[in-house]
Amino acid sequence: MSTAQTPAKSSLYNFFAPGGLLSKTHPAYEFRRGQLQMAQAVEAALDEKRHLIVEAGTGTGKTLAYLVPAIRSGKRVIISTGTKNLQEQLFHKDVPFLQRVFFPNGDEKLRVCYMKGRNNYLCRQKLYDLEHSPILSGLEEIEQFRIIQDWEKHTETGDRAELGQLPEGAPLWPKLDARTEACTGQKCQQYERCFITEMRRRAAESDIIIVNHHLFFADLAVKRAAEDAPDAGILPEYAAVVFDEAHELEDVAGSYFGVQVSNLRFDELARDVEITLRNKKVLTAAIENTLGSLRQRAQFFFAVLPPGEGRFAFTARPEFLEENGDEWIGIQRGLTRLVTELQSIPQKPDEVHNLIRRAEELRVQLGFILENTDANTVVWIERRRFERGRGGRENVFLQATPIDVSQILRQALFDQIETVVLTSATLAVAGPRTTLHEEPENSSSFTYIRSRLGLDHARDLVVPSHFDFPSQALLYVPPDLPDPRTPQFASQAATRIRQLLEITRGRAFCLFTSYAQMHDIFERLENELEFPMLMQGSAPRSVLLDEFRHTPNAVLFATAAFWQGVDVQGEQLSCVIIDRLPFAVPSDPVVAARVRAVDNAGGNAFFDYQVPAAVITLKQGFGRLIRSLHDRGLLTLLDNRILKKQYGKIFLHSLPDYQRSTRLEDVERFFGLSPQL
Ligand code: SF4
Repeated sequence: MSTAQTPAKSSLYNFFAPGGLLSKTHPAYEFRRGQLQMAQAVEAALDEKRHLIVEAGTGTGKTLAYLVPAIRSGKRVIISTGTKNLQEQLFHKDVPFLQRVFFPNGDEKLRVCYMKGRNNYLCRQKLYDLEHSPILSGLEEIEQFRIIQDWEKHTETGDRAELGQLPEGAPLWPKLDARTEACTGQKCQQYERCFITEMRRRAAESDIIIVNHHLFFADLAVKRAAEDAPDAGILPEYAAVVFDEAHELEDVAGSYFGVQVSNLRFDELARDVEITLRNKKVLTAAIENTLGSLRQRAQFFFAVLPPGEGRFAFTARPEFLEENGDEWIGIQRGLTRLVTELQSIPQKPDEVHNLIRRAEELRVQLGFILENTDANTVVWIERRRFERGRGGRENVFLQATPIDVSQILRQALFDQIETVVLTSATLAVAGPRTTLHEEPENSSSFTYIRSRLGLDHARDLVVPSHFDFPSQALLYVPPDLPDPRTPQFASQAATRIRQLLEITRGRAFCLFTSYAQMHDIFERLENELEFPMLMQGSAPRSVLLDEFRHTPNAVLFATAAFWQGVDVQGEQLSCVIIDRLPFAVPSDPVVAARVRAVDNAGGNAFFDYQVPAAVITLKQGFGRLIRSLHDRGLLTLLDNRILKKQYGKIFLHSLPDYQRSTRLEDVERFFGLSPQL
């Protein structure tokens, strides 16, 4: 950003404080001390080129607290969010607001852009190729194709979000999107007018670039693999990055620094080879034969993988390779033969080089997954069923995930970028103990997040909440319910939920740690409750949320998908009930590998990893209730291990200072149903 465009640097106090710029321009202005503190900390981190961790609860107004210093810094700053909702709020609400604040006369423009993953954008070349040889299935797809053809002529962004008529998950879109796999980059005839090129140009001219964690880590992983070659990745150089919803970083980073191979990738490769070579008129009978054989070999190979449901570890790989040598050699030879055939095409069109690279990459990645002995990698299998659009088939994903991403992030992120800010409503964990090194300047509340992410040197801050939790929320824990791991729990929990919902008149989220528990309790209450009951899975998430908002006294039964990123303000949500402390499933292959790794390194996985991770999830879940200064309601944890076990104190100390009780009468009193004492 040029000096002329940088908004004047008066103090942040003059911006956020009563009588300041914000108070004069924001329709719902309130002075929030935490917001000012956070903004000052972010500004100092940017000025001093330091890293920073900030926990800022709901209601702090944290988006302005980092956007304002980022804009004033004059540096290029990436803002990365965990959810699309937040990404959109930043771009469509906060940035236009700041534009009006900083440049009321419209004489300058903030240089901000919004980037999504490549698969959100149309590939013009693919569209034109399909125009000439359409391989479309059914009338619906032909109609959708026409809509996209018309849209391509006038869209400026090529972002499919503009295409309201195209249903989510439409099978046509993956045939047209701009993913790297089929892109020939500068050799493409459409390169100059490509939407990705245009997005890159906009980014190169922007000071603030709004992305999501997936795009950020995809870019970082590509750059790391390419050893920072100048053209690698999609993001231009930047001085700083702010991660909002930073509690999600470990999982997202793990997925991008890992490797995934699936039967779908084989199908897609074979399909793209066929379409491309046919379009280029170089498809021979020999190659068709090779593709047929590759498809068959892939089918055989994925069919002999160890059986199992959901996600499970793939530990006995040497034995597997020994027993299934024919299938293993078959799939490798299938890929090698395809590469050889493609290489032998005379005067190869550019697209063919791309296909060769993809086939090679698939062979190398499959080899890594099956043969690596890296102690920091866990290999696992996941089976997923796709009901829609893919004929109800089962897809099998082979994954190699880094067990500990801290070393990777230390080298690729924290040591490379001068300022990284991590913020979220849930990052801090109160800890009576720590086995890890702490800097004197830091509090132990962030030991967990620092150690998981490899952030050794950073200032940290917990900003005071803007909400009055002691008067806005009551946390009730029934002391008399059995341990949630016992068979008696479900029936007694259902009875207590019914009692609570009668007091709150429904208006509740019942959040569960497993589908089985959710279904069980839902069925037990189905004919017992007088309130409308909704259950996750019966409709898409956004539809359910809408129904919940508009149905008086509704009760929603849900699992992990509703623990975060859900915002229902007002009386309609007056109660959040959680069934048990949300420890990650210990049999999950990645969780199990992380637990083993912490123990093997001399730590105590329960206290150093499992409890802090569960604390953060619990804070997220309870965070659904109080979304504004006017919200008021009941939080219930049906798992009284929080009172009875030693580790329960860590959870209790980490939660906001809600009013707390173990008596049902206090719940009634809170809702005005029994006389005040
Ligand atoms: S440059 Fe790549 S993404 Fe862009 S139109 Fe060409 S092939 Fe498609």
